[in-house]
Amino acid sequence: MNVAVPTPTAAMRPLIDRFGRQVTYLRLSVTDRCDLRCVYCMKERPEFLPKSDLLTLEELEQVATAFIRRGVTKVRITGGEPLVRRDVVTLIERLGAQIGDGLNELCLTTNATQMARFADRIATAGVRRINVSLDTLDPDVFSAVTRGGQLSQTLDGIGAAKAAGIKVKINAVALKGLNDQHLPELIQWAHGEGHDVTLIEVMPVGEVGIDRADQFVSLLDIRDQLEQCWTLTDLPDSTGGPARYVRVEETGGRLGFITPLTSNFCAGCNRVRLTCTGQLFMCLGQDDRLDLRRILREDGPDALDAALDQAMAVKPEKHEFDVAEGAGAAVSRNMARTGG
Ligand code: SAM
Ligand code: SF4
Repeated sequence: MNVAVPTPTAAMRPLIDRFGRQVTYLRLSVTDRCDLRCVYCMKERPEFLPKSDLLTLEELEQVATAFIRRGVTKVRITGGEPLVRRDVVTLIERLGAQIGDGLNELCLTTNATQMARFADRIATAGVRRINVSLDTLDPDVFSAVTRGGQLSQTLDGIGAAKAAGIKVKINAVALKGLNDQHLPELIQWAHGEGHDVTLIEVMPVGEVGIDRADQFVSLLDIRDQLEQCWTLTDLPDSTGGPARYVRVEETGGRLGFITPLTSNFCAGCNRVRLTCTGQLFMCLGQDDRLDLRRILREDGPDALDAALDQAMAVKPEKHEFDVAEGAGAAVSRNMARTGG
């Protein structure tokens, strides 16, 4: 790839929004497609975007570079399933080359089904940590949650990442009646393998063909449940993200809770999300966006810098999620489209 990147400015101006929050973290969605169909994420028969709408890998690199020039130190490649996009590893390698030159960390969120094929190249590119979605260790429940996925494929991918020296964190969405009773098994296994775990409350983003009230279970209840068998000690560490962490004394592992519904995490928000079509969303739960694809294609990479200032001027204060029965989706786009 031969990419025209934005011209560096003399002095780096950090990206600070109206509420004094500095944006240092970009989530870059490279595709809305996926080889799984998780019941909380998308419909059984989703309508994917035409490939012609997507930013090219070169354009994704240009936008990420514009952010890095303005003080973004962490980039996460996500989707959809990022590893189903053809040649995505080339983009990972190109961005990996910027580690140490503004960028501190390049990471990936993946379902790991394709990880066994790519783990070594991804590790060599400089990726040290990945998040893997895994909601259960039961093959039948896994197949039900992902609508047809094979647990063994994801476990093989996790094993390959670990063997390549990549630190894995397991993300599990708590789902009423599906995996909520079996989360202790998942946590015990993950901690035994040396993986941190983060539990996530289901968020009402996008229509999935199921009422969110039927899926939602509060992590306050899950925590109560876990405390009946384990000692959970609050940890001060923060990754700058919405998760609150505890140590499970009995397993020695770290467990995070992301509770967008039961406690709002917006005050410390340091991130923005770019969709695979170049729409910049300043908040996961609001519709405010900026069309960076249009700006990039019409005005060139140097115009991105001013666009990022514009983005800071409109970043919303917070999301307003609600999962009450019949409340509907807070935003119409699902997580795979926004970039989870
Ligand atoms: N395919 C990759 C994966 O599953 O890890 C990356 C994209 S996925 C959209 C990113 C994360 O979003 C996953 O951890 C998934 O569990 C989470 N997610 C998707 N829809 C969600 C929802 N409605 N509520 C909460 N988390 C959700
Ligand atoms: Fe695919 Fe990830 Fe969404 Fe599951 S959560 S359907 S793996 S994009």
